[in-house]
Amino acid sequence: VTATPAQIAAAVPDPEMPEVTLGDLGIVRMVEVGSGCVTVTITPTYLGCPAVEVMAADIVAALQQAGWDRVDVQTSLSPAWSTAWITSEGRAKLGAAGIVPPPLGPDLHHALAELVPCPRCASRRTRRRSLFGSSPCREAFVCEGCGEPFERVKPV
Ligand SMILES: [Zn+2]
Repeated sequence: VTATPAQIAAAVPDPEMPEVTLGDLGIVRMVEVGSGCVTVTITPTYLGCPAVEVMAADIVAALQQAGWDRVDVQTSLSPAWSTAWITSEGRAKLGAAGIVPPPLGPDLHHALAELVPCPRCASRRTRRRSLFGSSPCREAFVCEGCGEPFERVKPV
């Protein structure tokens, strides 16, 4: 079975969180196939995300490997990407990798203030160390139960 261009683009790993794919994160918005060419539209997780160039290059490489020589990657910033676009499979993969998925609720102010349980020991004695983790899309926490640091995908 040959994968479709949409499946190939969706299967590209995220450059900053290789545990999940661009499809899992809802970053691939549209894949159009013309006569011999593929146009992929992506919405980066935030404006000016430095990973956009890498994502575009990875998508082009993956499709070219599958025989699609003419690949165009467009960026669409409207509507803005939202953590609500992360698929349930993507949320499960993040959790399995020890990264807390963003809250699903609509109240983001509440989400930023709430207690975030530790993904390792489930202790609620955790505190945010920084609004920025190892990538700007994540925030850094430390657990006072087990003493381990962990990260959460920032709700937007
Ligand atoms: Zn812990």
